[in-house]
Amino acid sequence: MLKDIMTEGECSQLRSLIADSNTIVLCCHISPDGDAIGAVLGWAEVLRQMGKSPVMVVPDQYPDYLQWLPNTDKLVRYDKRKNYVDMVLKIADLVCCLDFNTLSRIEALGEAVEASPARKLLIDHHPEPDVPAVLSISHPNLSSTCELVFRIAWQLGLFPVLGKHFVVPTYCGMMTDTGGFTFNSSSPDIYFIISQLLTKHIDKDKIYRNVYHNYSEHRLRLVGHVLCNKLVVDSERHASYFTLTRQDLHRFHFIKGDAEGLVNMPLQIKGLKLSISLREDTERENLIWVSLRSVDQFPCNEVAARFFNGGGHLNASGGRLYCTMEEAVKVVEQAFHAFEDTLK
Ligand code: 5GP
Ligand code: MN
Repeated sequence: MLKDIMTEGECSQLRSLIADSNTIVLCCHISPDGDAIGAVLGWAEVLRQMGKSPVMVVPDQYPDYLQWLPNTDKLVRYDKRKNYVDMVLKIADLVCCLDFNTLSRIEALGEAVEASPARKLLIDHHPEPDVPAVLSISHPNLSSTCELVFRIAWQLGLFPVLGKHFVVPTYCGMMTDTGGFTFNSSSPDIYFIISQLLTKHIDKDKIYRNVYHNYSEHRLRLVGHVLCNKLVVDSERHASYFTLTRQDLHRFHFIKGDAEGLVNMPLQIKGLKLSISLREDTERENLIWVSLRSVDQFPCNEVAARFFNGGGHLNASGGRLYCTMEEAVKVVEQAFHAFEDTLK
């Protein structure tokens, strides 16, 4: 059986927060991934079971490989429908913040959420939660926000009445945030949760294929190009980086999501502890998106915070630089140098 995730007090506070709210808005972080989208779709389904009709907002585009999830057609993009979302936020009673720890992680939407008179509920698994919420259900030790959403639904006693619209996105988010249950997934509870989800007759192998075997030919060739021509390995420091310039992106017909998982690949090299990806924004000049991955106890979130204006989890973090690619590469080299004692 699962241990409770909320105290009795939190559980009854959550019930009344929801019961007392008519207009409920859900939102997740920018460039949403499987966990962010899964948590929004899954939590919305829980609220529907409680008689609510939540508005599901995402800050910007989500990857193609998540389009197949049920109910994605109901997601409202803030970058496309700002006026509508601003209007809903003005009259909202409750905003549920999913899979991010500070409002700056949702950029312009964060300002609108902050200005909203609605009470805020945080459901998240990132370290150091800092959202002005009346109730924060924050568990950085859990694999994913989707695991948290499952546990909350379970504790509320709603799992028996939840169907595919809850189960599929929740499983999907747990799967993507753990790289298909290959990291951050050693807790026996996860497998109890999966066993419960499977009782609802989901095809987990199909979910895997829908996410990981759903790329274009261009993406596969982009991977080949990066590994063959762009990857720079610093064997002494057990670290690597690669750059993706606009030229690379254009050549391989890049669409959002095509770089997903690429940053994990160099960690297949024996002994490598840190992998960094630098990707030029397709539109804005001097904006480089940074992804970091590490293994064991090497804290890539510290590297992200110190060198790349970002943060995240111990082994998976992100950030950004406002400079040219040449300058960004220099920052990476400085970071490798600064952390060389821990990397060796
Ligand atoms: P990704 O490399 O997939 O963009 O991000 C990996 C992890 O780092 C995700 O859990 C994401 O939430 C977190 N992350 C990405 N960018 C940032 C950032 O700018 N700030 C913080 N605090 N976390 C980030
Ligand atoms: Mn997550």
